[in-house]
Amino acid sequence: MEKTLFEKICDREIPADIVYEDADCICFKDISPQAPVHLLLIPRKPIPRIAEGGLGDQALLGHLMLTAGKIAREQGIAGDGFRLVINNGPDGGEAVPHLHIHILAGRQMQWPPG
Ligand code: 5GP
Repeated sequence: MEKTLFEKICDREIPADIVYEDADCICFKDISPQAPVHLLLIPRKPIPRIAEGGLGDQALLGHLMLTAGKIAREQGIAGDGFRLVINNGPDGGEAVPHLHIHILAGRQMQWPPG
């Protein structure tokens, strides 16, 4: 199987500005930021998208959510606030088929989202 773009970032085959990593996940700056802070948090396991997560991924998905909060605190964005986004499939705006959580902060977010 061809590695996903984000697997190549995990394996240091493509450079990225990494802000956090542990045994299960890695977080790096988005190459095309949509807010003053725009990070991508991904599992090392290449789950294509949230709709394809399985029961065996329960602990990993919980870890990702808690890690998003931890990174927000560490990056100093938890106080003013931030937004987590997961795009799933064509209508969701997914471009990279490797599950990722966008962490967006540093400006007032709008609602409804585009
Ligand atoms: P999606 O649209 O799939 O939810 O989000 C994919 C994100 O990956 C986009 O925000 C895009 O800017 C980001 N991205 C695409 N290619 C690269 C890359 O090579 N490096 C980094 N750091 N981000 C990327």
